[in-house]
Amino acid sequence: MRAPTAAELLNVWENGLRQGPIDRALGLLEAVYPEQSAETLAGLSIGERDARLLQVRQVLFGPRITSTMLCPRCSERLEWESEVAELCVNGGKTSTTELCVEAEAYRLRFRLPNSRDLAALSVGTDRSSDSRTQLLGRCLLEASTSEGEPLRIEQLPETALQAMVREMDCADPQSNLQVSLTCPACGHCWEGLFDIVSFLWAEINHWAERTLRTVHLLARAYGWREADILAMSPTRRQIYLEMASQ
Ligand SMILES: [Zn+2]
Repeated sequence: MRAPTAAELLNVWENGLRQGPIDRALGLLEAVYPEQSAETLAGLSIGERDARLLQVRQVLFGPRITSTMLCPRCSERLEWESEVAELCVNGGKTSTTELCVEAEAYRLRFRLPNSRDLAALSVGTDRSSDSRTQLLGRCLLEASTSEGEPLRIEQLPETALQAMVREMDCADPQSNLQVSLTCPACGHCWEGLFDIVSFLWAEINHWAERTLRTVHLLARAYGWREADILAMSPTRRQIYLEMASQ
């Protein structure tokens, strides 16, 4: 992974304005993993994608994360902090590509969901089944009865679908990152979902607006080109900005 330049990150941001969260995440990964094809990155399991995004976050904005969540019981907004390292729960290992579940009545072989699967769901026109069944159907490689008779996703009992989901969560824990929270107002304890994609996008959005404002002020004060201002370190930009406002 390589750190993007300010100009590259602004390009990712500008493209991301027209995209949904799945493509924003992939656009960012493509910028920092130029040696890997878009196809490869879209094929990463969701947990692996999110583990990489946490590393990108650390490189861009540092290891400390501060976020807010609403208490589900009293709606109090509470702030929580964490280190990026504490949020990396897969231990840096590559997720298994193939999983199996065997029970008395069926045998399943499947893979972990990736960005392509999520994208297919978000544009899916098939209203005949719910999105969970569609996702599991895409990931199912083979299903059969214990006698070896093939089964389709629609023929699987609910217990089999639940077993698939459990196995996926277990094999790719980063895809469903929960943080333990306690509300200071009412004492309620719960596990909140931390979505690195929307969190990081909000930070990049904030950074981009600040950076463009700085470019605007410096260009107006000194007549410099955007590319030259972006090529400067943030420290120099800040110093010039302070001098220009004196
Ligand atoms: Zn509360």
